[in-house]
Amino acid sequence: MSKARLLMPGSTIGIVGGGQLGQMMALRAKYMGFRVGVLDPTPDCPAAQVGDWQIEADYDDTDAIRQLAERSDVLTYEFENVDADALDAVSDIVEIPQGTDLLRVTQDRIQEKTFINKHGIGTAPWRPVNDMDDLRAAVAEIGLPAVLKTTRGGYDGHGQFVLRDDADIDRVAQVRPWAGDFAPSILEGFVDFAYEASILVSGNGEQYVTYPVVRNIHRNNILHITIAPAEEAADPSSPLAQAARDLALRLASGFQLAGTLAIELFVLRDGRVLVNELAPRPHNSGHYTIEACSIDQFEAHVRGIVGWPLPEPRLLSPAVMVNVLGQHVAPTRALIATHPEWFTHDYGKAEVKHDRKMGHITVLTDDPAAEAARLEATGCWDDLKKD
Ligand code: AMP
Repeated sequence: MSKARLLMPGSTIGIVGGGQLGQMMALRAKYMGFRVGVLDPTPDCPAAQVGDWQIEADYDDTDAIRQLAERSDVLTYEFENVDADALDAVSDIVEIPQGTDLLRVTQDRIQEKTFINKHGIGTAPWRPVNDMDDLRAAVAEIGLPAVLKTTRGGYDGHGQFVLRDDADIDRVAQVRPWAGDFAPSILEGFVDFAYEASILVSGNGEQYVTYPVVRNIHRNNILHITIAPAEEAADPSSPLAQAARDLALRLASGFQLAGTLAIELFVLRDGRVLVNELAPRPHNSGHYTIEACSIDQFEAHVRGIVGWPLPEPRLLSPAVMVNVLGQHVAPTRALIATHPEWFTHDYGKAEVKHDRKMGHITVLTDDPAAEAARLEATGCWDDLKKD
């Protein structure tokens, strides 16, 4: 892909997927004067509530993708499991500045890790594994503990199995999706990281800008809190900030990135950084940018795909972002009236479900660690406490 074609306000952006990421993209796009169409099976989905129109159909409905393409000037997506062939099939009638290579690479852990390593960037050691014999051979090479991950379709820890000792190897044959037909997978060495972090990079196919490194705290494999910036990366000239920025720019130019790409990192105890995985879209760990940065990850995404220049994002204030899952909706609402410092986001999802991302709260603060502790002390997130 080369530089995305310059589109003017009044043009239509079609988004495949109408969840919260699509909603926040659509909000930004509306500010900038674009029209927004959304493809999503759920009537009145979060993005459709702020967009101009919705096509109610499944994401992999090729007729619906064609309809979306016909009514749009540019197509984008809010999640990576979009049918890349279906997008290729409409590339003659609509701009797709992100291309489909980025999608294909990030949909497949083997391609993703190969791409990352090819650009001289470290990951956990990994091997492709297609049956139990491969698994034993990979364990012999990589050692234990290790994590078995399906090459495709996994998210938030789904399609993953941690092997701690030899007995776990035989257990794999009894658990889905490896029981019966063994799901194509990779075995990854278990990384004894100091903490998890991420960095966002945005581009317009020609020019790339990065965001600060943030620290991410997960509970039950779901992002819980983001601390921006990560303490060790607060100084942009720190080794962590520089290493992350360098790898982000290398990946962005490797993809000739248009839009926003999130890079999930493991920060090791010796300060080295490994890439865990890539998300070719705005990311939950970047929601803090809405209030805390001079340009947020969604505007950067929209600018990138409509070929606008990108200002270098500045962090205006340190921040903490905490997710509001289904079980946190009632307790946080009960406190909204007493927390003027909470920037409360609710995605407008009709159905409240346990562990479903319903919204998030961002707080601007000079002391993110203390604010994170204050948020925890409200008790709203007590169900996530580690024992
Ligand atoms: P993923 O879906 O690959 O992002 O993995 C989900 C979570 O599992 C990560 O955020 C980590 O907390 C953990 N995890 C994944 N891979 C590894 C690894 N190789 N070593 C240690 N922890 C891991």
